[in-house]
Amino acid sequence: MATYEFLCSACGPFDVVLPMGTASEHRECPWCGGGARRVYSAPRLSRLAPALSGALAREERSRDEPEVVSTVPRRGRRR
Ligand SMILES: [Zn+2]
Repeated sequence: MATYEFLCSACGPFDVVLPMGTASEHRECPWCGGGARRVYSAPRLSRLAPALSGALAREERSRDEPEVVSTVPRRGRRR
């Protein structure tokens, strides 16, 4: 899957996730129903801080297989 960026002249930019190579040059705007054109930007490849990219990867994994904890977290360690 790939994220494609479109621009509606009335509502602004929006992203659509589609299988690679299936995006057309125009798409219906999800807010106003008008026509939006595809825009091209630099791919979002590993420009995130390592801690943030790790947290996002963990969040992505937990969508299908939530992490299971076997003990209750200790009190007093939260900030
Ligand atoms: Zn729109």
